[in-house]
Amino acid sequence: MKCYCYVVLAYAARHFDREWTYRIPESLKESIDIGSVVNVPFGTRKTLSRGFVTRFFDSPPGHYHDNKIRDIDSLLSPRPVVTEEQVKLAYEMKRRYYCSVGDALNAMVPPTVLSVGDRRVKAARLIDTEEATELLDSGDLRSMKQVRVIELLLEHEEAPCTEIRQAADVSQGVLNTLAKNGVIEFFQRSVPRTLPEELEEVEPAEAFEATEAQQEAIEKIDGAAHSVSLGSLREFMLFGVTGSGKTEVYLQVADRVLSRGQQVLILVPEIALTPQMTRRLIARFGDRVAILHSRLTPAGRYETWQRILAQEIPIVVGARSAVFAPLNNLGLIVVDEEQESSYKAEMKPRYYAIDIARIRAMMNGAVLVLGSATPQVSSYWRAHNGLSTLLRLPERISEVGMADVEVVDMRREYARGNLSIFSKRLTQELSYAIERGEQAMILLNRRGFSRTIICRNCGWQMRCPFCDIALTSHRNPYGEQSRLPNRMVCHLCERLARVPKHCPECGSEEIMAFGAGTQQVEEEIRKQLPHARILRMDLDTTRGRFSHKEILDAFERHEADILVGTQMIAKGHDFHDVTLSAILSADQLLGTGEFRASEQAFQLMTQVAGRSGRGLKKGRVIIQAVQPDHFVVRAAAKQDYEAFYREEIVFRKRMEYLPFGHVGMAQLKGFDRYEVEDTARAFHRDVALLIRRYGGTFARTVLSEVSPAPIERIRSRYRYRVMVRDESAENLTRLLFMAADDLKRPKGVSLVIDIDPWTTF
Ligand code: ADP
Ligand code: ZN
Ligand code: ZN
Repeated sequence: MKCYCYVVLAYAARHFDREWTYRIPESLKESIDIGSVVNVPFGTRKTLSRGFVTRFFDSPPGHYHDNKIRDIDSLLSPRPVVTEEQVKLAYEMKRRYYCSVGDALNAMVPPTVLSVGDRRVKAARLIDTEEATELLDSGDLRSMKQVRVIELLLEHEEAPCTEIRQAADVSQGVLNTLAKNGVIEFFQRSVPRTLPEELEEVEPAEAFEATEAQQEAIEKIDGAAHSVSLGSLREFMLFGVTGSGKTEVYLQVADRVLSRGQQVLILVPEIALTPQMTRRLIARFGDRVAILHSRLTPAGRYETWQRILAQEIPIVVGARSAVFAPLNNLGLIVVDEEQESSYKAEMKPRYYAIDIARIRAMMNGAVLVLGSATPQVSSYWRAHNGLSTLLRLPERISEVGMADVEVVDMRREYARGNLSIFSKRLTQELSYAIERGEQAMILLNRRGFSRTIICRNCGWQMRCPFCDIALTSHRNPYGEQSRLPNRMVCHLCERLARVPKHCPECGSEEIMAFGAGTQQVEEEIRKQLPHARILRMDLDTTRGRFSHKEILDAFERHEADILVGTQMIAKGHDFHDVTLSAILSADQLLGTGEFRASEQAFQLMTQVAGRSGRGLKKGRVIIQAVQPDHFVVRAAAKQDYEAFYREEIVFRKRMEYLPFGHVGMAQLKGFDRYEVEDTARAFHRDVALLIRRYGGTFARTVLSEVSPAPIERIRSRYRYRVMVRDESAENLTRLLFMAADDLKRPKGVSLVIDIDPWTTF
C-alpha cells in the first residue's frame, strides 16, 4: 500500500540530503510512483520544495509519529520522470562522487523534463532578430557568453531559460543583462509536448556478411549476453584500428539483443562529431533508434525522453549523459572510443560514464563492450587481468592501408639554425600538398598554455623526480608569461623546481619553453606560405560565430588548404582530400604534465595516422619531435599499440598511477583569494588529522601541500587545491568526503572533489 513515502530533495545542501518521510494524500495514490517529481513543504520554508519519490511504506517508517508527518502537496508530472533503477543509481553516485542524490537525479534528466510540472516556464526570445544579427556582426559584444546566447536564439527562436543556461553555459545574470540592454525579452510559455525531432533521411541498409574475426567477436559477445546474470559484470574490450569493422560488430550484436526483446545503449564521444554512427544505426534500425542530442531542441528532447521512459524505443545513442537513458531492460551497452576524455564529466556531479555503464550493466544483466583502436592503458590492463575479455579485429576491411608516419628530429633543425616551429621538411610537404590541390591538417595539444621545458640540443625534458611527469609552467594570473619561465611546477605533488641554465644531460644552454598555441601556428604559416588558405579550430573559434561542424564542413568543401586545431580535428570526419597531417611537437604532447600524457599522445598520433589517407590517395603523417627516440614516438611511428602498452604499464606500476593507484583532488574556488587559500589550508589540516587518526587505513596515503591550481584564476575565481594519492579509490573517497563534511566553509568558497580527475589543470 502506498500510504507513506520517502522523498529526496532536488536541491539540497549535503546536510539536508536525506530521505524525508511524507504522507500520500488519497487523491495522489493512483498516480504517484517511484521516480515521481513532487512538491513538498519542507522545514520552515515559505515556498514548496521539489523532490523525488524514492520508496513507499504501509505505515510510518522508523520512529516517526504519524501526526508529525506532513502531506505531499502535489504531483508535478502525471508519470514518473525517472525509473527505479535511476533512483538506485543516484544513491550509488552519491557514494562515489561528492554530490547529493538530487544533484545526481538532476544530471540524469533533461531540464525540460523536470520543468514539466511548472505549467508555464520562463522563456526568452530575441526582440529583433535583424538587430541581433547586426549586433553579432558589429563585433560590439564584449562577452562570448552573450554571443552564444544570441546565436542559440537565432537558431531556435525561443527557448526556456533553463535550457539556454545549460546549452550556452551561462548564468541567469547574462540573460538578465541582455534583457536590460533590449536584446532579448522574457515571456511565460507553456511546456510544449510534441514537436517531432527531425530525423535525417537515410537509406535503409542490410548487414554485411561478417568477416571471420567479426563473427568470432559477435558470437562471444552475444553468447555472454545470453548467459550473464544480474549483478555480475561481463565486459569486453573490442580492440581494432579505425576501419577494422568494430561498428559492424556493435550493430550485429545489437540486432540479436533486440530480437530477444532487450534494449541497447550506445555511447559515442560526441554526437556532432560522429555522424557515421548515427547514420548507420538509422539505416539498420530505422525508427527504433533514438538520438539523445545535447543540442538545444527542448521539445524534441522532452519527447524523446518520454518515449524512452515509456520503453517505446529500444536503441538509444548519445554522448556522455545518454548513459542515464531510462531504459529498463538493457541487454547491451557499447562505449565506442572508450579512451575519450569526454566520458568524464567536468561539472558536478563529476561522474565517469564508463563507471556508470558498468553499474548499469550489472543492474540490468547486460554485457558491456568497450571499443577502441587505442584503449586506455587501464582498460587494456583489465583485459589482461581477467576483468574483461579481449577481442581483436586485426585488420582494416578496405584495401587502403594506414598512412606512412615520418618522424622529424627537431634537434637537427635547431642545429642547422632553423628556430621556427616548422621543420624544413614540413614546410616543403605543406607547399607540395597545396600545389597539388590537396589538403593538410596540423594538430596541437589542447592546452596551448601548458608549457614544457626541453633541451633542443639533446631532447632532455624537465620532469618531476618524484612523479616522473613533465613539469609545466605556472600561469601567472597577473601578467604575461615571460619567454623562459624560471620556475616550473609538478602539479601532482606541487613541488617547484628552478629551470636550469644548462641542460643536465648534455650541458647545452639551448633550453627552451615550448607551448605554441593555434593562433601562433596560424601566424607562422601565414609567414611561410602566404598563399595558403587557413582555417583554425580551437576553443576560441568554436565558441564564437562558428560551430565545430561549420568549420569542419567548410574544410570538407575544400574552402581552405590547411586546418589548424587541437585534437578535436582528428575526430569524426573523413576528409578525402587530406593527404598530409602533422603534429608540430610530440614533446608538447608528452609534456602536458598529466600522468596520462603518454597515453594521450600515443592516441592522438595513431588517430591522425588513421585519419589521413581515408580517401583514395595514401596519406602521410609528419611528427616533429625533440625526443624522436621516446618510446611513445617510436611506437606511434610503427603504429604498434602493444609496444606502447608494454612500456607504459611498467611506468604506471612503478609510479603507482592508474590502474595501480588513484589520485584524489579537492579544489576550492572563490573570488576572495585569501578566503580560498585559508579554507584550503583548513581542509588540508582536516585531511592530515584524519590520516593520523585512522592511521592503519590510510597508512599508504600520500598528502601533498596546499597549492594554487596551475591556472590559478579562471573567470575571476581563485582556485586552490589539495591532492591526495592512495592505492585504493574507496579510501580516497572516504577520506576526502569525511574532511569535506567536517570543513567549515565560508559562503563564497565552493568545494569540488574529483577522484581520478582527467585533467588536473
Ligand atoms: P570501425 O568501427 O572499426 O571504424 P567499421 O565497422 O566502421 O569499422 O567498418 C569500416 C568500413 O568497413 C565501413 O565502411 C563498413 O561499412 C565496412 N565494413 C564493416 N564490416 C564489413 C564487412 N563484414 N564486409 C564488408 N564491409 C564491411
Ligand atoms: Zn641537452
Ligand atoms: Zn611531482
